[in-house]
Amino acid sequence: MDKPVILTGLRSNNDLHIGNYFGALLPLIEMAKNNSGKYQINLFVPDLHSFTTPVDHPGLYKQTLHNLRLYVAAGLPIDDTNIHIYRQSAIPAHSELTWILDCFTSYSMMQRMTQFKDKSKNLIDEQANSSEITVGLFNYPVLMASDMLLYGAQYIPVGDDQTQHIEYARDIAERLNSKFGDLFVLPKPVSEQHKFFGREQGLRIKDLVNPIKKMSKSTESDKGVLFLGDSPQSAKAKVMAATTDSYGRINLDADNQPGITNLLQILSLLKNESMEDVANEWVGKTSYGDLKTAVGDMIADFLVKLQDNMSKVDENSIINRLETDEKLMNLQANETLYKVQRAVGLRP
Ligand code: ATP
Ligand code: MG
Repeated sequence: MDKPVILTGLRSNNDLHIGNYFGALLPLIEMAKNNSGKYQINLFVPDLHSFTTPVDHPGLYKQTLHNLRLYVAAGLPIDDTNIHIYRQSAIPAHSELTWILDCFTSYSMMQRMTQFKDKSKNLIDEQANSSEITVGLFNYPVLMASDMLLYGAQYIPVGDDQTQHIEYARDIAERLNSKFGDLFVLPKPVSEQHKFFGREQGLRIKDLVNPIKKMSKSTESDKGVLFLGDSPQSAKAKVMAATTDSYGRINLDADNQPGITNLLQILSLLKNESMEDVANEWVGKTSYGDLKTAVGDMIADFLVKLQDNMSKVDENSIINRLETDEKLMNLQANETLYKVQRAVGLRP
């Protein structure tokens, strides 16, 4: 870990969607393409996080490999030796450190985590059995802190929903550093992270059907979610059916016109244009249908290209790369874990 570490992970509980792609995957891949020599870049599958909410267990392993292939289809240069792909469950130090951090994390701190509140509420709304709201869901931010701290990750591209968890990781690292001496490199404050990735704030793409909610992999209905594996036609159809409003004029107004504002946001990402440019083109127009058609066509083109890349990704090259990287990551992670084990009195 001689170089600053940039790291992110995407749960493999389902296919990825455009929020995952633009919120976490693309910023990391762009760094990997443009600046890889300056950084160590870790893009992993947090497969242990994948079943904090109910999941199809027999399909999980296959989904994990599928998502790794998506990373490559999205442009990750896996031949670059500064880049590492791995499965969280192949590096036992993640779970080990989690237990130790658990014992320094207050119950009330975890109770404040909005992702837990939102996700457990969703499970209740879906009338899931209350036993499906698990301790794993409750303390996943601790596992996430381990994911970052084991490698001394400073820059972590994530969507806006994860801001609170980065702040928690900084907090626990700082507290343990002041109690036991310098154990951890702290993730950078969230505002610095945004600057680093050239953003004003964290990204939160909304569900097309319910644009108050964030687009999520684990939503019960997939009508409002643009999955990377959707057929181009069905993605376009989802956009054409997106919830809008009755104002009859396109505005950038997340409070009063969340559906339209979300479509403008998605368009700006797909076109790689600033929100300002997209707003200049569309604000004031009255045809929601035209806006939907523009977004629908762009998403269809985007998926055609991505899925074509996907069909060319060779799974064997990924499996070979996992083998090398997982060995290396075990060495790095164990070094940090050993420091912590000594500090808390588990080792001489
Ligand atoms: P789930 O609902 O099952 O948790 P998810 O869509 O939240 O799925 P994660 O695997 O939890 O996906 O998150 C992977 C990354 O994608 C995280 O960095 C997260 O912040 C980011 N992300 C998730 N949803 C969005 C979104 N709607 N907009 C932007 N970024 C997002
Ligand atoms: Mg999530």
